[in-house]
Amino acid sequence: MKIYADNAATTPVCRAAINAMQTCLNQNYGNPSSIHEAGRLAADVVSSARRKIARIINAHADEIYFTSGGTEADYWAINIAAEIGAKKNKRHIISTAFEHPAVLKSLDRLKKRGFEITLLPVHGDGIVRADDLLSVIRDDTALVSLMYANNEIGTVQPVSLFAKLCNNRGVLFHTDAVQAAGAVPIDVRNQFIDMLSLSAHKFHGPKGTGALFCRQGIPVTALAEGGAQEHGKRAGTENVPGIAGMAAALEQSCRNMNVNNAIIMSMRDRLIDALGGIEGSKLNGHEKHRLPGIVNFSFEGIQAEALLHLLDMAGICASAGSACASGSQDSSHVLLALGLTHEIAKSSLRLSLSAYNTPEEMEYIIQTLPPIIKRLRDMPPVYDNN
Ligand code: PLP
Repeated sequence: MKIYADNAATTPVCRAAINAMQTCLNQNYGNPSSIHEAGRLAADVVSSARRKIARIINAHADEIYFTSGGTEADYWAINIAAEIGAKKNKRHIISTAFEHPAVLKSLDRLKKRGFEITLLPVHGDGIVRADDLLSVIRDDTALVSLMYANNEIGTVQPVSLFAKLCNNRGVLFHTDAVQAAGAVPIDVRNQFIDMLSLSAHKFHGPKGTGALFCRQGIPVTALAEGGAQEHGKRAGTENVPGIAGMAAALEQSCRNMNVNNAIIMSMRDRLIDALGGIEGSKLNGHEKHRLPGIVNFSFEGIQAEALLHLLDMAGICASAGSACASGSQDSSHVLLALGLTHEIAKSSLRLSLSAYNTPEEMEYIIQTLPPIIKRLRDMPPVYDNN
């Protein structure tokens, strides 16, 4: 049996996205900036995708800026806020210790430019608290950036509450919704969100396409100059097939969200029940406040790297945390932020599901995992100098 259980890393592309992209590649190959018919047809594809995505998150079409993915959207959002802040002499930014590196690295860069960065602690259940925000927010805070849902443990954060508190204080609020989009409903207006990052390949769209929502009235710093694309703020010929695929995938994921989530959650809960019964196992992250599809367990006394290889040999694609961190010897910063020791953090397995998985696959995982864990625990220890 071949099982793909690494949907937080990336998802299979859905039929609706493939069809939309194929139409672009075969027929709408014009450059959207050209004034002739082929150009106009391609421009229509981009406008229609922009409107679709805007409608789904309750934004206006001119508030959507297409990007090359979630990393670029995060980087851009943080830069926009920093530029606005610097002009008003507000150089304090609040985020959290378990953000994606796309956010954390952008903040590191700003620190070198003289910004003060406060990272809120993450509690043992993988959730941040509004009280912690209230104790550090200041008059010179330019931005609060809080991820909608964590990519390694799947916990969903109190985004609406944080955004409302920021709104009351006149502080910009950004959320990295890369893992949440398509899995939970998002309404930027009613949730008081100023900026939001999306990535198509996490909801069955193509890789290399994403979007930044930036609320009207926020002055947007250009990411690249040299063309009128993306409201003049991100020059470069648009990735028309990618954009069309992204809109089709988001539309499809949101249309089927309730039905799919019920199926995905029942598979996830079956895994949580069964894997929780393995001796020395621990579920990471809150049991309820989590995305439908992400399960993260630590298994005392094993090395995740070795576990992943044996699972791969048994036909199961899983992950030890974020795909970006795989292959590195470092413990996951997310799990360390939760208070796990290095040893336990390095023994963690992430299984992430989508509607393409089946209950039979869950049973296979449940049967396959315990003997592999036993085998690893029975092996003589490998000494780790970290
Ligand atoms: N933010 C989160 C929470 C993610 O999980 C990811 C991808 O793993 C990203 C940002 C980066 O998105 P992309 O791969 O589209 O650059």
